[in-house]
Amino acid sequence: MSQEKLKDLSRLCIHTITTKPWDIRTAAQNFSEAGIAGITVWRDVLDGKNIQHTGSMLRDLDLRIVSLCRGGFFPHTDHGERIRAIDDNKKAIDEAAALGAPLIVLVCGASPDQSLQESRDQIAEGIAAIIPYASSANIKLAIEPLHPMYADTRSAINTMAQANDMAEQLNSETVGVAIDVYHLWWDPALKTEIQRCGNNKHIFAFHICDWKTPTTDLLLDRGLMGDGCINIRQIRRWVEEAGFDGLNEVEIFSKKFWEEDQAAFLSKITKAYLDHS
Ligand code: ZN
Repeated sequence: MSQEKLKDLSRLCIHTITTKPWDIRTAAQNFSEAGIAGITVWRDVLDGKNIQHTGSMLRDLDLRIVSLCRGGFFPHTDHGERIRAIDDNKKAIDEAAALGAPLIVLVCGASPDQSLQESRDQIAEGIAAIIPYASSANIKLAIEPLHPMYADTRSAINTMAQANDMAEQLNSETVGVAIDVYHLWWDPALKTEIQRCGNNKHIFAFHICDWKTPTTDLLLDRGLMGDGCINIRQIRRWVEEAGFDGLNEVEIFSKKFWEEDQAAFLSKITKAYLDHS
């Protein structure tokens, strides 16, 4: 591979869920051989694994561990379930520490059995409850606003403004925001809210993929960069102008791509990344 291309991939990270058919070792070996700089690890791939050894394996392959996905899912109508959610987030913090991941992405959660405001209050309470545990483990937490089509069950935090409000309210160096173009590209306040997030030093992560037309599945039909209508370059510029200098994380859930040969898919990812982001 040319030096120029390797340099261009020096800020590329891929989520393990993007190449879901691969186990973590296969994914990591392929990412490393392709010259990709980082990996974000989804918790499911750690099931039954020695997490510390997995972290060492990733570092031995020269992969930077960007984050652990995912914590969150705080709201429930039942108090006992809310306590269980906090315990599970503490477990995720333990896993991140064992892995050597500095950050956990929070998909904050929502319950269709209560108001969005009740869910938001429970999210704030849940994050506040785990901040001391995360801080003492030196793990940061990123609130990821999700597209409003997920406001019933996945997240009552749906815009950058809401994520910024909550991060400001929680007022802790531990808590910031994960910006995902798939969830936020439509927001007319996106540029100003990215600037606000940057001014607060709250941009903790940047996730990319594309929005396909038509989208045939609300969850599992994300596109490769360039396959859809998101101006990824422009949003990336706003994020970088706001001071973010971390990795660009490719996070694609796609039944279509998971059915393909994953090595060929990985080549498409690096090409799409270089051409469209
Ligand atoms: Zn994301």
